[in-house]
Amino acid sequence: MTEVQKSKAGNYVPSEEIRRKISIAKTGHKYPPRSKEHCRKLSEMQLGALNHNYGKPISAGAKLKITLKNTGKTRPPMTEEQKLKISIANTGKKHPIRSEAYRNMISKRLTGVPKSMDHKIKLSCNMRGITKEEFDKLGFADYKQYCNYFNSAFFKNGVRTAHLHCVFPGCNKTKKENISDTGNCRELSCHHVLSIRQAYCEHKISKDKLDMIRKQLPTEIARFGEPKLSPEEKVYVRMVVPLCMEHHGHVTDTETPAVPYEQTTYRKHFCEILMKKYNGKSFIEVE
Ligand SMILES: [Zn+2]
Repeated sequence: MTEVQKSKAGNYVPSEEIRRKISIAKTGHKYPPRSKEHCRKLSEMQLGALNHNYGKPISAGAKLKITLKNTGKTRPPMTEEQKLKISIANTGKKHPIRSEAYRNMISKRLTGVPKSMDHKIKLSCNMRGITKEEFDKLGFADYKQYCNYFNSAFFKNGVRTAHLHCVFPGCNKTKKENISDTGNCRELSCHHVLSIRQAYCEHKISKDKLDMIRKQLPTEIARFGEPKLSPEEKVYVRMVVPLCMEHHGHVTDTETPAVPYEQTTYRKHFCEILMKKYNGKSFIEVE
């Protein structure tokens, strides 16, 4: 009788002769097809660190083989479950800093490619540091509706330096405290006290709209029926105040332009601050 051999793990290793006998007995013998359960177990035995190739670099030859095997093949579209798994795995992770060349490559690839509405909304949210919920309230930032005077230089040199705090009663937040749901600091919003986007471009307001605008003014200021806005009226039309995100939303939601001046809380409050402190001028002089 031959000596019993044992593997490193202590398992019995059949002798040459026994292995030959087993081989003969099994030649031509077909195994029944593996059950799904069996396949899963076999697969799990080789997952991650259990795999004998785990952590080993792939050789150039092996890489080439994989490339050749996959060339010309297209992957089936990802299932919702796969997408969710990837999303969970990557949530909260930041992209590694990309090189200039890599960023240029991405930029080149995306330039001129039409974007879906969903994509546009996501980009807008990212640029402005707001959530989708906040976007639903605010919509796209559309500066075309405003007078050209309302550009970034105006924000920086005018409203930002003159008033650095939210003027909502009792708030006083600064840009640093103006944090969106995504945790980003945002510039204070520039709130048109009278909701007139043509402020500083008053010549663009059509005559039939003038009286509608006058309904937002204090009764002693409004000159209904006049073909042009008076200098006193213009002072009100041009009023702008800085507001934090929370209060900008609150003011626009609760006080529509339809409410007459005397019945408002915020419009009246903002106008009174500006008249008292700055003689009605929100910041820098124009014209
Ligand atoms: Zn505020």
